[in-house]
Amino acid sequence: MNRLFLRVGAGLLAALAGVVNVHAQDQVLNLYSARHYQADEALYRNFTEETGIKINRIEADDNAIFERLRSEGQRSPADVILMVDAARLAAAQRAGLFQPIRSRVLAKRIPAKWHAGDSPQGVEWFGFSTRARVIVYNKDTVKPQDVATYASLADPKNRGKVCTRSGAHPYMLSLVSALIARNGEAATETWARGMVANAARPPRGGDTDQIKAVASGECGVALTNSYYYVRLARSPRPQDRALMSRIGYVWPDQHGQGTHLNVAGAGVARHAPHRAAAIKFLEYLASDQAQSYFANGNNEWPVVKAVHVNNPALAALGDFKAETVPISKIAAGVPAAQRILDRVGYR
Ligand code: FE
Repeated sequence: MNRLFLRVGAGLLAALAGVVNVHAQDQVLNLYSARHYQADEALYRNFTEETGIKINRIEADDNAIFERLRSEGQRSPADVILMVDAARLAAAQRAGLFQPIRSRVLAKRIPAKWHAGDSPQGVEWFGFSTRARVIVYNKDTVKPQDVATYASLADPKNRGKVCTRSGAHPYMLSLVSALIARNGEAATETWARGMVANAARPPRGGDTDQIKAVASGECGVALTNSYYYVRLARSPRPQDRALMSRIGYVWPDQHGQGTHLNVAGAGVARHAPHRAAAIKFLEYLASDQAQSYFANGNNEWPVVKAVHVNNPALAALGDFKAETVPISKIAAGVPAAQRILDRVGYR
């Protein structure tokens, strides 16, 4: 009798310990993030307040996060991986850093266009905010009707005027991958050759450097992600205002296939120790409030359509026609994009 009691008691204790352990495990979430904006603080704080799950953040740039995940392998404590740009997310996906997940909340909230690596096992990562690849031009030297499309940048009429960042950069790779999906490989290679021929200078610098080089007159026209433009357009600094007064803005391909869109995205890490918490966090990122914080923190657009961001500088750009290429297709085409850019000598 006593022995039986002891046995049942021990079993009960073990079961209880298991329950406690599961809960203790779920009270923390390790987030590897390539995004770091002031507004994200409130985003993370709200999640912890709502769920009691504490977030440990490892913040680094995308390359450092990628390398860290690869070297940690199966022992990685990462639960959620957050990166910017489809080309980088695609590289992480190809390296097997994500695990597929199923979530009714995410399936319902996030349009299928922003689901990547969808298989019978689930989705590997989701886009949570969108940014557009737009054209900026010097108002003194270039007419907007001459740079209204991505194709126009490779047209001989713009010889010696075009500036971009490196052909090895994810922003270029994603755009070229989208153009492959839209126009095919042969047409995209011809376009890339035209871009090389039209260069005002060898590719270099970041998107903000392109905008500055257009303002200074070194370049007539350049490509940039929309949030760099909006950041400068919102700036109260007199030197930024002077710079932006010389810059014109174009939504590319409004009478064609629309402007190229990319994302900041996230997924659950392959060896996530806190898988349930990780899914909960992604579901939280798709909520109205988090969508608004997340997008506005970097002057981007939420993927959840019903969510509105109160951002006058973003609103001032007006509505535009976006391309319809799914992000999974852009991700899949990145290696082909790299091969084209290598072939045409896009540095
Ligand atoms: Fe960026």
